[in-house]
Amino acid sequence: MRMILMGPPGAGKGTQAKYVADRFGIPAISTGDIFRANVSSGTELGLEAKRYMDAGEYVPDEVTNHMVRNRIDEPDAVPGFLLDGYPRTLAQVEELDGMIKFTGHSLDAVVVLTVNPEELIGRLLQRAKTEGRADDTEDVIRRRQEVYAEQTEPLIDVYRDRNLLIEVDGLGEIDEVTERIFAALTAVKQS
Ligand code: ADP
Repeated sequence: MRMILMGPPGAGKGTQAKYVADRFGIPAISTGDIFRANVSSGTELGLEAKRYMDAGEYVPDEVTNHMVRNRIDEPDAVPGFLLDGYPRTLAQVEELDGMIKFTGHSLDAVVVLTVNPEELIGRLLQRAKTEGRADDTEDVIRRRQEVYAEQTEPLIDVYRDRNLLIEVDGLGEIDEVTERIFAALTAVKQS
């Protein structure tokens, strides 16, 4: 299973990615988590990424693509993977197409979590209190929503045109949403 989990900041991608990937026995690969790990350990990649992340902007495609390519090449990702937070730009879509094609496989599904914008801002402000992420201030949260609308929302049509898109309502209890995603994906796998 090779799949993408998409959705605006605050839609619950990270939470769902872990549960869904576990059920399929594949790694959840979160670009945001990898960047944050690099920021914490002070690597060169972390220093580069931090400037963009703190402002709510996307890290440049070349940097992100290179990082994902390396991660996908690791042995645990050979049987499949769930991408959380990648691709986010059209250039990243093309790059991912190339990476998957190179392995002789294809993408199975793209799940989009839908949540209304006001709910998203509320969730992120709440998370700011509990997790203290540097990019969860109100201004940066709003900027991240804008960047998502400008650069990432267009990807939804791209994947819809390829018949890969599955839209899932992201509102509700965490395990309700997991069940919805899982049911939709099981249908894909059997078809
Ligand atoms: P969220 O979805 O809540 O914005 P993430 O943890 O997925 O949070 O990402 C945090 C930040 O990491 C993004 O705002 C961006 O700066 C950077 N980032 C993550 N994934 C990508 C990507 N695919 N392309 C460019 N930048 C990315």
